[in-house]
Amino acid sequence: MPCAKSLARAPLARAASNALHAPNARLASLPRSNVFAACTKMAGDHGAVNLGQGFPSWPVPQFVLDAAAASIRDSEAGFNQYSRPGGHPLLLDAIARFTASRFRRPISEENVTVAAGAQGAISNVFATFCAEGDEVVFIEPAFEMYSRMAAMHGCHVRGVPLGNVTGASVASTSEQLTLDIPALEAAITPRTRLLILNTPHNPTGKVFSRAEYEAVASVVRRHPRLLVLSDDVYEFMVLEASLEHVHFALLPGMWERTISTFSAGKTFSCTGWRVGYCIGPPELIAPLTSTQSIVSFCAAAPLEVAIARSIDAAEALGYFDSLAASLRHKRDELVAALGAAGLKPIVPGGGYFVLCDTSGLKAAGGPSPPSALADDNAFAQRRDYLACAALTKSVGVLGLPIGGFYSPANRHLSDSLLRFAFCKADGELHEAAERLREAKARGAL
Ligand code: PMP
Repeated sequence: MPCAKSLARAPLARAASNALHAPNARLASLPRSNVFAACTKMAGDHGAVNLGQGFPSWPVPQFVLDAAAASIRDSEAGFNQYSRPGGHPLLLDAIARFTASRFRRPISEENVTVAAGAQGAISNVFATFCAEGDEVVFIEPAFEMYSRMAAMHGCHVRGVPLGNVTGASVASTSEQLTLDIPALEAAITPRTRLLILNTPHNPTGKVFSRAEYEAVASVVRRHPRLLVLSDDVYEFMVLEASLEHVHFALLPGMWERTISTFSAGKTFSCTGWRVGYCIGPPELIAPLTSTQSIVSFCAAAPLEVAIARSIDAAEALGYFDSLAASLRHKRDELVAALGAAGLKPIVPGGGYFVLCDTSGLKAAGGPSPPSALADDNAFAQRRDYLACAALTKSVGVLGLPIGGFYSPANRHLSDSLLRFAFCKADGELHEAAERLREAKARGAL
């Protein structure tokens, strides 16, 4: 009789075990690799300043922390128990008032639904409105969760690349990145269910102009079954007075078919609290709330109440202006340091991130092999990853390779790009700037 240990190694037992543990086919098709984990390890191994991941490293504002502590401690009020799937009534009320003043249209609780972060909200949109075989269109590079969620729901992705991200005519500001409207039009078919827009844009920082969004709306109008997800999580991070945040939902005819999504985590620098929300017409919001009731029933109730109170307090404290001013200052410091080091930055008009062109970095080698561009799991063989590794080792500053922000057909565009987050404490940014200066002086760049 074989012992239990040798049985476990027998091929038949292994096959049975694979069948037992196998995720479903859609999940199995998702990339297994995690570039964030690899980069975090690399930063740790080399003692590098990690400007890879987009979360703020400064403290959560005191008024936001106080609101959370109070709502957790106030056990009489019952905030520590389930709230409602659509959101705690105090939060719905605060969001409705806050949104009505920006949207300049009546917004009631029926127009709002709360989820576990904007990511949870976007996931609810896929689960509610997208079916196997539907197509999803977005502008690339794009927050990589869009394509992962599409794959998870059996949807096909068509990415429309921004122009001037790379090559001879690479932009020096995010506003010079171009949106190819005929290419967008060509990507949308009768099977397209969802168009995802994002402004200010991750990872380029582009703030889409009213003219660009009007051109997009004129395409959308020709497709009766097309919904729009307007990802506005960086709304309060527009960094130039000459730029405006345009809500796609407010363009003529777009309200009825647009779900706008926001992140309290981004707005109040508490990304771990996982509070996000959607705004839209009741016909789109009610099904999203039903989905939320199945997925996790509600968000974290005391933190919902804390966000409601923070929204109410923020304007009087001048919080939104000071957030943008502080980010502008951080952006300027990092952009200047990257530029002086010869890593041509595309100066972002908004958001948390700056994209850099690293094509001058010889240590990163030549273009990525086609096999590495085609394979979602082969990020470590691509040029952008090799550029990240070279900079981490020789300079001690880590920027994120963004191959995963492109679909395979457009992924070559990311070869020379790295994304650096400037949503970091001043001390970290000074240190990164100093390391870049020092590396340039000793000829490492
Ligand atoms: N959309 C974009 C464009 C993002 O960059 C992110 C977070 N990186 C999200 C949505 C998710 O935000 P949240 O942390 O609220 O889930």
